[in-house]
Amino acid sequence: MTLNAVSYGEFSMALHEHFGDKRSPVEVSIEVSRRCPLDCQHCYNNLPMGDLAARNRELTKDEYEKILDELADMGVIWLLFTGGEIFARKDFLEIYTYAKQKGFLITLFTNGILINEKIADYLREFPPFAIEITLYGRTKETYEALTQIPGSYDRCLRGIRLLMDRGLPLKLKTVGTSVNRHEVIAMKEFTERELGLEFKFDSLLNPRIDCSQAPLAVRLSPEEVVALDLNWPNVAAEHRKTLEAGLRVAPNASQTVYSCGGGFKAFAIDPYGHMSICVISHQDTYDIRAGSVHEGWAQFLLSVRQRERKRVTKCTACQIKSACGMCPANGELENGDPESPVDFLCEVAHLRAMALGFEVPEHGDCEFCHDVERREALVESADRIAAREIDPNVWSAPRSLLPVLNNPVASAGCGGCGTVH
Ligand code: SF4
Ligand code: SF4
Repeated sequence: MTLNAVSYGEFSMALHEHFGDKRSPVEVSIEVSRRCPLDCQHCYNNLPMGDLAARNRELTKDEYEKILDELADMGVIWLLFTGGEIFARKDFLEIYTYAKQKGFLITLFTNGILINEKIADYLREFPPFAIEITLYGRTKETYEALTQIPGSYDRCLRGIRLLMDRGLPLKLKTVGTSVNRHEVIAMKEFTERELGLEFKFDSLLNPRIDCSQAPLAVRLSPEEVVALDLNWPNVAAEHRKTLEAGLRVAPNASQTVYSCGGGFKAFAIDPYGHMSICVISHQDTYDIRAGSVHEGWAQFLLSVRQRERKRVTKCTACQIKSACGMCPANGELENGDPESPVDFLCEVAHLRAMALGFEVPEHGDCEFCHDVERREALVESADRIAAREIDPNVWSAPRSLLPVLNNPVASAGCGGCGTVH
């Protein structure tokens, strides 16, 4: 028999074509712990390393093995282990090994600071499909202003080196915030030119899943988010392409609240055994400990996925959805209501479209289209970005890198969910 080698891209595309429109769980995100040795100002879910109550609630290794058996039976292919910090769990490599033996394609999200020679050697022997480390700054000062932990920068770089020395499939990424925005370009250059690794970034922050709005205190302004995006030709080209595609077709008026891959091709499991549509959606959860993953997928998540939307909003007929990060989980976190559009995301999407020269078609009662003052402000902003008057290449460090204290945003809270922890 002759076996033909195919690239990963071909393999992935063939699988997606194979599953097509069939509801089938192919991707699962598993948060193994919310505990983390860092305390990033923008973080949406971290808990202190020493939080014993959280540790005691976490699923045990045996429970993970049972869950992984079920996931394999269900045909799951891609598995993401994330946190908190995955290596906050002393037994993480045992859970990982079990998952490897089951044949999943595994991605690890880590901040890298707990990676030592032993872990790196082990991963060389049993490599994952991919590892992604988040770099929070190019300098120690900025990195540690965001992570709020002295010494964490050097430990992160050490972790990166240990994995690189062993030829592991590593990528770096960052999250753009008001604390590190002036170093995003330097982080990209360092990653691509000095380390020869792939780099990506995102600038859209969520409130915390316990309803605290604290991360929003370091969120970039819509103008900064778009200026940063459009500074990268490939990111700008991607937004242009998806906007063109969205504007060519009639608005996609989904009857259901969710129209993403959550509950259709993917789902998430939190450290305490709760299944949900995705890692940031927590209003509807199913307790695996009281049932099974099969049951959670076949019944509970199906009913969440099939839930019909209760009303028409400005999102219903929107044709620039592809440029917008709005989804029910964001509505839930920021407004306490999955169907309530998030103002910030809406502004970013309109500005993105306008800065790229697109007209935004009528889509209901949208203040960014109908409110004269807001619209004019957006037009001016789009002009400034297009003229490169807002230039991420010349941004300087914020006057104070100390954490933002007593910020009114930080204590606002959405009130939309119960206490998670
Ligand atoms: S490293 Fe990740 S999980 Fe830990 S505090 Fe930072 S953002 Fe949160
Ligand atoms: S939030 Fe605004 S831009 Fe985003 S989908 Fe809704 S209407 Fe469109």
